This record gives sequence, structure tokens and C-alpha cells, in this order.
Amino acid sequence: MTEDIRAACVIGWPVEHSRSPLIHNYWIGKYQVAGEYRREAVPPEEFDGFVKELAERGYAGANVTLPHKERVLGLSAPDERAQVVGAANTLWFDEGVLRATNTDVEGFLANLDAATPGWDRDLETALVLGAGGAARSVVFSLIARDIPAIRVVNRTPERAEALRERFGPKVRPAAWDELGGLMRSAGLLVNTTTLGMQGQPPLEIALDDLPASAVVCDLVYAPLLTDLIRKASTRGLRHADGLGMLLHQAVRGFSLWFGVTPEVTPELRALVEADLTKPA
Ligand code: NAP
Repeated sequence: MTEDIRAACVIGWPVEHSRSPLIHNYWIGKYQVAGEYRREAVPPEEFDGFVKELAERGYAGANVTLPHKERVLGLSAPDERAQVVGAANTLWFDEGVLRATNTDVEGFLANLDAATPGWDRDLETALVLGAGGAARSVVFSLIARDIPAIRVVNRTPERAEALRERFGPKVRPAAWDELGGLMRSAGLLVNTTTLGMQGQPPLEIALDDLPASAVVCDLVYAPLLTDLIRKASTRGLRHADGLGMLLHQAVRGFSLWFGVTPEVTPELRALVEADLTKPA
């Protein structure tokens, strides 16, 4: 690597599945940036050492993926959203200090803004399925947009309760068997569970009770067209998919490392779609 080339990477274990190299290297080519973006497979026991040597390894910053997103908070200076969400996915150096943020927050919001403009106008109640790491980013985002009520339904009720403790009384846990009734008053339905993902059980819910004006969002992006998005589309509901969020969450990292704010375009989307749908 020459001194003029800036490098970033995605650190995970495993990391082969990550689409971040495809996205960032596309932008590097498009904006003719002197940069490189690589995969770094780093097991948990080597993670601390790897992060401490990030600059020595020639990196201007990195994405962090499973299983390191929580661990990295103790190795960096996380911003408020990363602290509140309890996970970071993007690292960069700011005058020698390794900073961390969580770009799933802006990825979630920018995706909805792009795919379903006005989704938050007069939105009274959001219904969130799941209470894991992705749900924390989603709830943070909804509170940032002043959504008055966030109903959280999760298989393990304690985790939904933990979200209320973390984010306050706007978050109201509910049980799976209440879903039908909750749908009737939901202006936004978000799936943050792994249900519907390749290799996972299906998400078996009917959307008949959602109001016609409701927006549906799925964070799952493999498969590209989930059953949830298919059902929303069949019912004529506005929707935003997981791939859109994945693309939008990448924008901030690229701009921090390479100094250019990239655009999420149909061409980029088609490139990642082709990768997601290619035969294994
Ligand atoms: P996580 O922390 O492991 O949480 C998983 C969630 O799914 C939990 O709420 C869990 O419920 C629920 N779940 C798992 N199996 C279930 C089952 N059989 N029945 C009912 N609920 C079940 O995972 P995560 O990091 O939040 O990720 C969740 C999904 O979001 C993944 O598909 C991930 O790829 C996606 N995601 C997408 C983006 C994007 O940019 N599009 C970004 C982040 C995440 P329990 O609490 O009961 O276990």
C-alpha cells in the first residue's frame, strides 16, 4: 500500500458473507478515490489486539460486524447513539482518537425516507418485532423522530422489557398473541427478528389488520424479497426492504474514511442484488 492510498476494512468472524466490500469498492471506483476496502477475519480472542493496532495496520477506519459490535465500545470512544444502542459498527480516527458510531440508525431512517417518504408524518404507533441488537437501533431511530408510541413484540418478553428500561416509557412491550389487535393501530410495522431470513424459520404473520396507510419495513435482506415484503406489496402497502437499509448505513463510513459522501443509486442496488441472488 502506498502512503497516498487510504484503507478501510470490515472486521468480523466470520466475515466472508459481508457485502460491505462490494459496496465500498464500488464507491471507491465510482468516485475515483485512492482507497482500498478489505475483509479482515478476526476471531474474538484477537479482536482487542487487532483494534489497538488498526492505525499501525494502515487503516483509516473500519466496519465492525458480528460478533464484535458490542465489544468494540470498550476499545474506542463511542458517540452517544453507539452508547445508547449498546453497539457500534463504524470506526474512524479523529485527530488520533479512535471514534465509534452506529450507522444502522441513519441507515434505517434514510432507507424509510427514500423508499416511503413522509412515513413518519402523523405516525402515532410503530410496531417493532424483535428486541435484539437491530431492534435497539430501530427504537433509537424512532425515538429520534419523536414517534409517540413504540410497541415491541418479542419471543423472549424480558428482552422487550429491557428495551423499555433502556429507552423509557414510549416503548411498550406486548405479547405475540396480541399482534392482531396491535396491527390495527400500527402506522409502521418493522421486522427486526431473524425470522424470514435464509436458514431461519419463516415469519408467519398476516398483514390483513394493518391500516391501508401503514408502512412495512423488513431488516432481513437475504432473501432479497422476504415473505413480509411480498405480503406488504400484495396488499398494496408502502414498504422498505433490508437491502435499502444495508446500503444507506454504509454512507457515513465511506464519507468518514474517504472524504466523499457517496450516493445510494439504483446501479449500486442492482450490483448488490445480483450478488445476493447469485447461485451459492
Ligand atoms: P439478534 O440480536 O440475534 O436478535 C434476533 C431477534 O430475532 C431477537 O428478537 C430474537 O428473539 C428473534 N428471534 C430469533 N429467532 C426467533 C424465533 N425462532 N422466533 C421468534 N423470534 C426469534 O439479531 P440482530 O443483530 O438484531 O439482527 C436481526 C436481523 O436484522 C438479522 O436478520 C439481521 O441480518 C438484520 N439486520 C439487518 C440490517 C440491515 O442493514 N438491513 C442491519 C442490522 C440487522 P429472542 O430475543 O426471543 O431470542
